[in-house]
Amino acid sequence: MARNPKYDILFEPVTFGPKTMRNRFWQTSHCTGYGSDRPGTQARFRGMKAEGGWAVVCTEFCSIHPESDEYPWHSARLWDDGDVVNLRYLCDEVHRHRSLAGVQLWYNGMHSPCLESREVARGPSGLPSNVFPERCLYDAAADEDDIRAIIHMYVLAAKRAEQAGFDLVEVSGADSTLPMQFLERRYNRRSDRYGGSLANRARFYVEVMAALKQAVGDRLAVTTRFETDTINGECRIQHFDEGLHFVELMHSEGVCDLWAVKIGDYEEWGEDAGSSRFRKTNWMRPFVSHVKSIVGASVPVVSNGRFTSPDDMVTALRSGQCDVIGAARPSIADPFLPTKIAEGRVEDIRECIGCNICVSRMQQQALLSCTQNPTSGEEYRRGWHPEQFEPAADPCSVLVVGAGPAGMECAMVLGKRGYTVHLRDCAPELGGHWRDVARYPRCAEYGRLISYRQIQLEKLRNVEMHLGVTAMTADDVLQYGADKVVIATGAHWATDGLGAEVHRPVAGADAECAEVLTPEQIMSGKRVVGEKVVVLDGDGYFTGVAMAELLADQGKAVTLVTNMNMVAEFSKYTMEMPNNKRMLHEKGIRFLTNHWAHSFVPGRLRLFYLYRDSAGLYEVEPGRWGRRTSDELVDLECDALVLVTARVPNGALYADLKARRAEWQRHEVQAVYRIGDCHAPRQALNAIFDGHRLAREFESAHPQHPLPFIRERQIWGHSTIPQRGDPRPAVEPV
Ligand code: ADP
Ligand code: SF4
Repeated sequence: MARNPKYDILFEPVTFGPKTMRNRFWQTSHCTGYGSDRPGTQARFRGMKAEGGWAVVCTEFCSIHPESDEYPWHSARLWDDGDVVNLRYLCDEVHRHRSLAGVQLWYNGMHSPCLESREVARGPSGLPSNVFPERCLYDAAADEDDIRAIIHMYVLAAKRAEQAGFDLVEVSGADSTLPMQFLERRYNRRSDRYGGSLANRARFYVEVMAALKQAVGDRLAVTTRFETDTINGECRIQHFDEGLHFVELMHSEGVCDLWAVKIGDYEEWGEDAGSSRFRKTNWMRPFVSHVKSIVGASVPVVSNGRFTSPDDMVTALRSGQCDVIGAARPSIADPFLPTKIAEGRVEDIRECIGCNICVSRMQQQALLSCTQNPTSGEEYRRGWHPEQFEPAADPCSVLVVGAGPAGMECAMVLGKRGYTVHLRDCAPELGGHWRDVARYPRCAEYGRLISYRQIQLEKLRNVEMHLGVTAMTADDVLQYGADKVVIATGAHWATDGLGAEVHRPVAGADAECAEVLTPEQIMSGKRVVGEKVVVLDGDGYFTGVAMAELLADQGKAVTLVTNMNMVAEFSKYTMEMPNNKRMLHEKGIRFLTNHWAHSFVPGRLRLFYLYRDSAGLYEVEPGRWGRRTSDELVDLECDALVLVTARVPNGALYADLKARRAEWQRHEVQAVYRIGDCHAPRQALNAIFDGHRLAREFESAHPQHPLPFIRERQIWGHSTIPQRGDPRPAVEPV
């Protein structure tokens, strides 16, 4: 189909410095965990976005020197010629699709753990890091020689970037990196010409930009990513105070070819990567618009805001908010988003759901994966393309039982590969447990996980969906007439309080009773009796806090009890922790951490503190050493108990079929596989990955088990760059 002319503006070229981007789609710098150390994964992941139509594709933060070493977080690096070789592959892949490659130059001062390099970062004032207060990290206060050395590090890194083939260097003046540490009063205690007034504190940032312009600016664009408001009050950067004044100052120096604008800082970068639970599309609009009004028409401004709708993008451009649509997560969830708009296939866009699982992978020091797009990060190591599927050489008929995330994904990929698929579910709609999730407070955007797959499934003529059928038994499956069977029957919340803490039910907790409820029961309307409700959360992600908020909004007095150190502990990885806490506080939801349930009777929940036993070890019985145990208990008034403790696989159908393996041949069933939560309950991205992988590898010898993938690591006996004893590149002034 032809492109809708109202979207033409999105495909206009934009010039910045010596470069012109072919359209207005900019893949903002974002973390992956691939870094320079996994060149294949990095290059093919970024190259896929260029293929999908993003005119500029940037790396993640790229350390310019071993003094700014984020290990064990894996960043891109431009420390030496080895990094140049590895990142050159990224540039080649991006250029192959006519896009520009950008690299974000990063020096992190006091917040650099340097756990690999063991160097010491320099900074404005020799202060301890507030981002990692527990790690004993300090910068060494820089004198003017040090400042010149650091600026030289930026220049050397930019020259290496040019060697690698990058088209633009973006100075990170955000996320509390060194330019911001000089700029912010909180960090900058200097009394020389780099401290004091705003102009003095801005000097370092401006000098870095000017040095880069002079060194590479006629060939590479020199841009910056800046936060106009750190969203944490006085002494930090506030938009209408020093945020916009700094933009005016830097702009008047003429050293910045393009501005990418954000808010939030390193301590709370969930304000930049705002999750859909807390921030709606284009929440940074007012901040970005003001920057645009300062820099005028000649200097483009990039705006992020989890844009997935072309209409929202056009509105942002036409309103004068920005010139370029920046995206990290929407480009992860759908690398082909621009192409789909260009081809008039807007309904095919796999919209980001704003869950921040991608962020959580990085925060766990792992590799980026995406809930919506199971191929992200798998382009190189498994050879998966998000839009291309190898046609099945000999397609047979497949019955998929269960249309939750795993079953939908598997049926869709099998369908795209040419199999004849029947997707059956006893529920009247697609989505499995995710239908409930999408109705939790704040989780409406999570529903895109279902709607994207529904649209795709409805387009496939070789896929039939049978919903609202009688729950299938092993007899039904065997007699169905399918060549192969995939079981995707999901999981349910434990009804007896079973959880990870003690791996036993909670005495008296039985969801058959009126006073005890599971999340499914709440979502299907079971009445929550009484006033005082306790949510027992052993899951640690969004369900516990969602149940607490739902019930607080109904006027209940809610207490959330968790065995973990923090409420919704996993949300420290998705960057939602601070706003989860603010929400609980605002709604008057009390919480108790490091406690678990001992027993429940209507009216009273009895808890124990996890660390109630003695710290020391004693001879508790003759010959037996251990802790002195305590039987101390804490009572909470509790009219109704909500169990968010653990999920239990719906594994019976698969087990029945496996037990009747001898009958498969008689019924001409060649194979039975299981995927998703019925195999093992995990986060939705893993259920989707499971379904996708099985469908991609359906003809392998043992599809239940994954094929090997390429592991990027040094193979012994092959040389590395640099070698021990190579000279250190000179950055000190001579
Ligand atoms: P997953 O996350 O693994 O995809 P879900 O729990 O979200 O799992 O979805 C499982 C789906 O399977 C639910 O919609 C449920 O109605 C369906 N289901 C479970 N058992 C049967 C069965 N025996 N016959 C048909 N559908 C089933
Ligand atoms: Fe969006 Fe979630 Fe995918 Fe991240 S993991 S890109 S937030 S859908």
